[in-house]
Amino acid sequence: MATTHAMAGLAVAALATLAAPEHAPVLAAAGLAGGLFPDLDLYAGHRRTLHFPVYYAVAAAAAVPVAALAPGAWTLAAAVFLAAAALHAASDVLGGGLELEPWRETSERAVYSHFHGRWLPPRRFVRYDGSPEDVVVAVGLGVPAALAFEPTVQRVVGAALLVSVGYAVVRRRLPRLVTWLVGFAPTAVRSRLPERFLD
Ligand SMILES: [Zn+2]
Repeated sequence: MATTHAMAGLAVAALATLAAPEHAPVLAAAGLAGGLFPDLDLYAGHRRTLHFPVYYAVAAAAAVPVAALAPGAWTLAAAVFLAAAALHAASDVLGGGLELEPWRETSERAVYSHFHGRWLPPRRFVRYDGSPEDVVVAVGLGVPAALAFEPTVQRVVGAALLVSVGYAVVRRRLPRLVTWLVGFAPTAVRSRLPERFLD
């Protein structure tokens, strides 16, 4: 889920603070933003438009040595942002498929690789977003990462983990709610919704 990706991005930022502790706040922001960024395509070609499992990694591999040679707030933030986005896009393969009820395991689309020119299949180590194991991963990444930062960041992590638990509690009821709500939507709105919301 998005919050797990954000916590993974913060973990990347926490590692970067070992090299540049003076930039901790900007690194935290870059890690959280990079972890969330790919999922901004939720309603426009989800897991394809802003998901680049190979190209983000290539960009991060270029940005990290630049940040190492010229460590400043901007170069470090760019490296952390790209590494967090790369981790997000690549780790989407470890979850479930792109479908409204991913626990049904009918979709063979986890994330689109523009490099390979095809969808990569889901491995389902985390069966679906908002599953109990997803919460465990979010807590397992978020809590140790938060220790590298000051209380403001720790409060953000606490809020994100609370949201994660709440999402996990209602997750399996959401598809019915969405389907029910979509039933009331005018045709003009419905025709703009992603396919997975309509079946
Ligand atoms: Zn994603």
